[in-house]
Amino acid sequence: MSASGWTAKLNPTVRALKPSGIRRFFDLAAETKGIISLGVGEPDFVTPWHVREASIFALEQGYTNYTPNSGIPELRREIARYTAEFLGLEYKPESEILVSVGVSEALDLALRAVVAPGDEVLIPEPCYVSYLPCTVLAGGVPVTVSTGIEQGFRVRAADLERVITPRTKVLLLCYPNNPTGAVMPREELRAIAEVCAAHDLIVIADEIYAQLTYEGEHTCFAAQPGMRDRTILLQGFSKAFAMTGWRIGYALGNADFIGAMTKIHQYTMLCAPVIAQMAALEALRNGREEMRRMVRAFSYRRRLVVKAFADMGLPCFAPGGAFYAFPDIRSTGLSSEEFTERLIREEKVAVVPGNAFGDCGEGFIRCSYAASVEELNEAFKRMRRFVERCRVENKNKARGFA
Ligand code: PLP
Repeated sequence: MSASGWTAKLNPTVRALKPSGIRRFFDLAAETKGIISLGVGEPDFVTPWHVREASIFALEQGYTNYTPNSGIPELRREIARYTAEFLGLEYKPESEILVSVGVSEALDLALRAVVAPGDEVLIPEPCYVSYLPCTVLAGGVPVTVSTGIEQGFRVRAADLERVITPRTKVLLLCYPNNPTGAVMPREELRAIAEVCAAHDLIVIADEIYAQLTYEGEHTCFAAQPGMRDRTILLQGFSKAFAMTGWRIGYALGNADFIGAMTKIHQYTMLCAPVIAQMAALEALRNGREEMRRMVRAFSYRRRLVVKAFADMGLPCFAPGGAFYAFPDIRSTGLSSEEFTERLIREEKVAVVPGNAFGDCGEGFIRCSYAASVEELNEAFKRMRRFVERCRVENKNKARGFA
């Protein structure tokens, strides 16, 4: 049988999954010399030295074994303390916290733990690229709810209510949002909480960008009245602590949810890597000032980026969190993918087309500002030149010169 002949034997659910829309542009960017990438979703900072050193020291001390399935007890205790301080929520380290291999694994575990075949999962769009495939792999049916720039990319309680059916079981929320940077004000989260209570929904709240909130405090969904016990809260080290490669995240929730997730984790992953857990422990104990310094750097770049898009004449919603801007590029006359491809080829700047995050992202691009100020300034100089060229082309076309 030829190599490609095996495709017919693959799991049909996997066969039907579309590869991520981002991949093609990443490949194109990777082969382009002199590219400035505003495409990737990871901090440009290296993990602080004392955190790296803690893991080196752990190795020197001989930490090379499995840990308990749910994570090193001291790390879970530190997570409980941090969560109480940061979010005002109490979780028991022994039964309500699970240390996972990134938020990616925690998301997969949460979906697999609660979704039964055919259950519907509400997903506001634009959304992180993993949400739909992970829902489908868990046997669920994703039901997307579009949000738009006119509503600040915040999901409305009434729009959720409209699509709820007797099969709806889960709402998957992500604020601060990837890709838009939107955050939800408390009163709007409360309205959503009422819908969840009325329809007995389980909420998976991916708050991986919680610390990267620029105006006021982060509002945690699990802290809304009556929501703690119906919410699986996902948190991680990748973004706030500049630790993407360490692969440490965690889930917080009632003992039933966390117990079910731990069951899957114990059979599929066993535990998160021990030296990465030791590094995470150090980050929580002694890395918070460093984290705040990185957040201040992102906050400065955020203002720079919003102004740069305004100067280019591309409307850009001011992101309240994360490190992404999501400008409206419709005035260039190009689709999101055309804009992205031409920008890479003509000006060597990589961004991500908005439609990679759902159909309602068409007409937008995602631009990460987790890059140095020098890189951002150069990227915006190039992008401005590109946008002006598009406008001249449009004028010429309108006059029949094209
Ligand atoms: N959730 C969101 C919203 C993300 O943007 C990302 C990464 O970009 C993840 C989860 C994955 O995070 P981790 O590195 O902890 O697996």
